[in-house]
Amino acid sequence: MKKIAFLCFFGGVLALTSFVEANDEYFVKKKPYAPYLTPDKLTVVASFDGSKSLERWQDILDFADKKQVKFTFFISGVYFVSDDDKKSYLYPPDMSIKGRSDIGFGGTGENIEKRKNFVLKAMAAGHDVQTHLNGHFDGSRWSEDAWRNEFDQFSRICAFMPSSVKHVRFPLLAMNHKVFPVLAAAGVKSVMSDIENDYENFNLITLKYGATNYQFAEFPIAYEKENGARILLMDYNFYLYDEKHRIDPDKAEKDMIALYLDEAERCMRDKRPFFISHHFSNWNHAAYWDAMQQVISEVKKKYPTEFLTVSELYDRVSK
Ligand SMILES: [Zn+2]
Repeated sequence: MKKIAFLCFFGGVLALTSFVEANDEYFVKKKPYAPYLTPDKLTVVASFDGSKSLERWQDILDFADKKQVKFTFFISGVYFVSDDDKKSYLYPPDMSIKGRSDIGFGGTGENIEKRKNFVLKAMAAGHDVQTHLNGHFDGSRWSEDAWRNEFDQFSRICAFMPSSVKHVRFPLLAMNHKVFPVLAAAGVKSVMSDIENDYENFNLITLKYGATNYQFAEFPIAYEKENGARILLMDYNFYLYDEKHRIDPDKAEKDMIALYLDEAERCMRDKRPFFISHHFSNWNHAAYWDAMQQVISEVKKKYPTEFLTVSELYDRVSK
């Protein structure tokens, strides 16, 4: 495999950007999606991160059932730790700090049981449940040990799941190359990123791991233009834009629908997956969740459509 310099920006939901340096220990190969996707169908990969709100779980699972679509849920481990037990979660870069999280904890033990049941119900219904790690920290400067601490704690906290996670959406999409051996040790098969401008390809990253090589995929989330501004196609990024420009929820919803339908058309034309990457939050009076539901209904009418989970997408492209 040809070795190329690895220059890649991971920015993210909260506009944090980290830099992954060129490194002889790993290399990256671009691969087109097209040969792996079903011809003449729109492939939709819709995912959420978060997982706290029980009402949102019910709402999303009801919608999925009604529309026969499959979602990927990137869950946060801290939402499966009760407030009473929060000191059992240790801050990954400094394990002497107990009970720190940027997104709080899971509330009462009763709520955690309900949340676990939603996870199990979602998995039983064919949805994909994967990891958004735990405390929602910016790990772009973390050491390998810090990453290992975070992954190990996720495995411990989420041991109730019938299978281990293989796909990651990093909090703030922030990461660095020191996580790579940790991904290999955990058997992680894909990460999502916001690499800037080449959406017809995904990256296959190969790293030396012990005496062998380890490979995982990196799926970029697209940026698109709205009134000249580049927006990462995630609900949070639309929210920031709409707040800044004082756009009311009705218009925000219509704008997102228009932009997403344009994106779906480009995905169909360019033979690449249409990623919808949202959160559990109902920002802007649920404008983005409403938009997402309408876009899903609309593309189902407009195109022959297949919904893949992130695991299914990985299985396709790794054949
Ligand atoms: Zn997040």
